[in-house]
Amino acid sequence: RPLRLPVSLSRASYDVVIGTDLISRAGGLLAPVLPQKNAIIITDNNVAPLYLQKLEDSLHETGVRTRSLRVTPGEQSKCLTIYQHLTDAILEQGVERRTTIIALGGGVVGDLAGFVAATTLRGLPFVQIPTTLLSQVDSSVGGKTGINTRWGKNLLGAFHQPLCVLADVTTLSTLPRRELVAGYAEIVKSGLIGDPALFDWCEKHGAAVLDQEPEALAEAVRQACAFKARVVAGDEREEQKSNGRALLNLGHTFGHALEAELGYDGRLLHGEAVSIGLHLAFALSVRLGLCPAEDQIRVTQHLENLSMPTHIRDLPQTFAVDDLMAHMQRDKKMQDGRLSFVLAHGIGRAFTTQDVPADAVREILIADG
Ligand code: NAD
Ligand code: ZN
Repeated sequence: RPLRLPVSLSRASYDVVIGTDLISRAGGLLAPVLPQKNAIIITDNNVAPLYLQKLEDSLHETGVRTRSLRVTPGEQSKCLTIYQHLTDAILEQGVERRTTIIALGGGVVGDLAGFVAATTLRGLPFVQIPTTLLSQVDSSVGGKTGINTRWGKNLLGAFHQPLCVLADVTTLSTLPRRELVAGYAEIVKSGLIGDPALFDWCEKHGAAVLDQEPEALAEAVRQACAFKARVVAGDEREEQKSNGRALLNLGHTFGHALEAELGYDGRLLHGEAVSIGLHLAFALSVRLGLCPAEDQIRVTQHLENLSMPTHIRDLPQTFAVDDLMAHMQRDKKMQDGRLSFVLAHGIGRAFTTQDVPADAVREILIADG
């Protein structure tokens, strides 16, 4: 039986349904929430041959008519050209206000299809069927949708909450292992931000998650989604300066700088950058005397036990510290030689600060590179 995690927000509440073989039961699971028996599935060319037929068969069984649109896999599809191609295809065939857009795929498909749903006719009903671990634990919860522009990632977007999320952990069996491990980093991150029991659980069961044991996977997805849902419910539109959603960026200031330097060409996955970023955020917290060293050692050890990258020197390229600093300063608008960061007083005790001396950051980067 699938688990149901309710997400309640001021203007929307919906369930994240987590379990095995949900796609083959999607018709029955979605019947109560679809406003009309009519859906457009957006997916990518990796996911389509694996799961599209199964999803359509199940929807057809309950009388839902479907159309499907496919995009090229990868971050490059989160762009205006593909957005226009999708909205043209949808509008050309005529679309009703109660037609549901279903995203079947990873975070790229979810963000893109979600933005199409948010904007077409000023908002179509939307369902997420995330098929990567990252999208199951992170991008499918919270309602952020969007695409990239030449000026940067996710700069065009909208908040658009789904009617329902189906997180089918069975789909993860076809996911490349590197993608699975990268998604796992975001689960560890959730524990480190504010759920020490989740981090304890990861230490005990992380290996089972990466070995694809269905129960461990479902439990990990449940805990991480529950954590994100709590954070999002407290800060629906990312308005809070200090706590709230800003905390979800633990490890991401360092991570984004590494990703930007490696140029998003697949050599470094987002979750791998986050893994290194988590290590560095804890190292910086210790360096500033804010966090006990043993907590940092536990974090780094856990990531390493599961063969995740933790050091800049693990990467296939060397970096100029000045280049990394420049990225972080652009990312975070440095003031008076001080940077804003998410740091931690310990495991599960993250906080935001605008007061990190740039020299301390530089030292950490030099020590790790
Ligand atoms: P992705 O969507 O590119 O998927 C990774 C790869 O796995 C792709 O090649 C995809 O085709 C393939 N794939 C997907 N499911 C598969 C399956 N079950 N079996 C085999 N292959 C499969 O990447 P992602 O990591 O899922 O998502 C990254 C995106 O998510 C980024 O664009 C990021 O900005 C976004 N994101 C959004 C939020 C949010 O709050 N909206 C949060 C975090 C990340
Ligand atoms: Zn992330």
